[in-house]
Amino acid sequence: MPGFFDWSSFRAQLSDLPIDGLSVSESEPLAAHTTLRIGGPARLLVRCASREAVAATVRVAAEARIPWLVLGLGANVLVPDAGLDAAVLMLVDELAAVSVHGTRLRAGGGAQLARVVRAALDAGLAGIECLGGIPSTIGGALAMNAGAYGQEIMDVVDWAEVVEDGGGVRRLERREIEGGYRWSVLGVGRVVTSAELALKADDPAALKARARQTREQRRGALPPEPSAGSVFRNPAGDFAGRLLELAGCKGLRCGGAEVSERHANVIVNPGGATAAGVRELAAAMAVRVRERFGVRLELELKILDRNGKAVADPEAALARKPPV
Ligand SMILES: Cc1cc2nc3c(=O)[nH]c(=O)nc-3n(C[C@H](O)[C@H](O)[C@H](O)COP(=O)(O)OP(=O)(O)OC[C@H]3O[C@@H](n4cnc5c(N)ncnc54)[C@H](O)[C@@H]3O)c2cc1C
Repeated sequence: MPGFFDWSSFRAQLSDLPIDGLSVSESEPLAAHTTLRIGGPARLLVRCASREAVAATVRVAAEARIPWLVLGLGANVLVPDAGLDAAVLMLVDELAAVSVHGTRLRAGGGAQLARVVRAALDAGLAGIECLGGIPSTIGGALAMNAGAYGQEIMDVVDWAEVVEDGGGVRRLERREIEGGYRWSVLGVGRVVTSAELALKADDPAALKARARQTREQRRGALPPEPSAGSVFRNPAGDFAGRLLELAGCKGLRCGGAEVSERHANVIVNPGGATAAGVRELAAAMAVRVRERFGVRLELELKILDRNGKAVADPEAALARKPPV
């Protein structure tokens, strides 16, 4: 409900916090912070450079009942054209640091996965060498349980430090971190501020060769235009891309957005696409697959509402006239 929240009081409370490493900007366009290059402004964008800054922001937001969410590289989100009436947290500086300690690798929640993988390769550590091409932060990867070519980040996480809704800080051990195919409890009402991965020593040359090979495979499979990767999760025992292709989705267009000719489960923005267009296109794709195969596809892409909550039903956005 835009306008309902007391933004000026929230902003004033943030400014009064006796904490370093907190920088707030108003109405910053989010298109530049998503890989789809789509999205209106964030009511408040809060860059946090320390765990204390994250905890204080979340606590003050919870007290003021201001909706909040954390954004990584924006590689799996669709931000509405009207923007987010929410406090959007981004993790920077100390919270994007990476360090190696023997066979363990510690990273801030905002650290880019590509950098983390490079550090592991340089140290001759195996376990994440196939993940380097996934656009992600460590926090986003743990929230989504990102994976590729038989590796998933959840396979190697040892612990994660999180700020919980309300502002409390907790360290979750591996056994407490539930997760599965493209989801984990770390993405639900929590901010991952740092995590430690337990990796295995291996031959650096062989690891680098494997990393190079998966990067090349990936390059051939994915469209070059801006996208958010897979729109839908694979249904059990099948591939969403296969069903979408058979349902004739490749090349469908709406509001400047297009289903990639290279991969039927990817919506691309060739330039000028709107979030409304992407939503309608995703809805039309889901309808086609349901009508043709009786399969209800589930969204992997997080289609956000104005308060930053992900919508669950991909068909909810369907306009009366389907795209052609
Ligand atoms: C070209 C392309 C290829 C892709 N290929 C793959 C692939 O092979 N495998 C794969 O798994 N995914 C793939 N993806 C999807 C995407 O890269 C992953 O989902 C990635 O992990 C998202 O990370 P992010 O940092 O961008 O998170 P965002 O997109 O910014 O956020 C995604 C979710 O994670 C939450 N989140 C972000 N940071 C944190 C944090 N610190 N703490 C808690 N929650 C957080 C957000 O609130 C949101 O709910 C691809 C995307 C693109 C664009």
